Amino acid sequence: MRAALPTAPASATKSLDWTRAQASECRRCPLWAGATQVVFGEGRREALAILVGEQPDDREDILGRSFVGPAGRVLDAALERAGVPRGELYLTNAVKHFKNEPRGKRKLHKAPNAQEVEACRFWLDQELALVRAPIVVALGASALRGVGGPTFRGATISSLRGSARWRASSTISRRSRHERGGGEQRGRHPTLNKPSCLQRRRQS
Ligand code: SF4
Repeated sequence: MRAALPTAPASATKSLDWTRAQASECRRCPLWAGATQVVFGEGRREALAILVGEQPDDREDILGRSFVGPAGRVLDAALERAGVPRGELYLTNAVKHFKNEPRGKRKLHKAPNAQEVEACRFWLDQELALVRAPIVVALGASALRGVGGPTFRGATISSLRGSARWRASSTISRRSRHERGGGEQRGRHPTLNKPSCLQRRRQS
């Protein structure tokens, strides 16, 4: 029998492993029913940047790992060009279950809707609070919705592409103030479009 829906706020979580285990039982939206398993983020807890994609693909759904399918290969190539080791990053998705449409033996990708991204922001927010990174990179429109939440409501990927923005988050702001000894509030920059962000870093 499945456990009850997890509802713990980020401040009550113990670790990424604990949060990952809770997410595996999530029923906050209907996507769990058509997926093989939850695909949680992975990478460094002290990361150079957090990269957020849309959702796992069919291969990642089977393997239970982020960015190991075709999109992961594109990302690896971009990271290599930018000179950024993948091991320095934390990689995750806005939506943790693979949304798909069964077609014979295949599962075809379907983009998550706004309600599903909003439901799964519960988990993304916890990752953003638990992983220490100065930059959050939103890779596409769903990721932007997940990262930005109400802050970026109505914004389009084309209007924000390649730019940096402060992200308003009470969880992150509280944690950042604590880390800085109660001083000036500090947020994070979700930066859109990974190659431009990472290449700027390389050139600096
Ligand atoms: S997609 Fe996210 S919110 Fe929906 S069931 Fe899966 S983990 Fe929960």
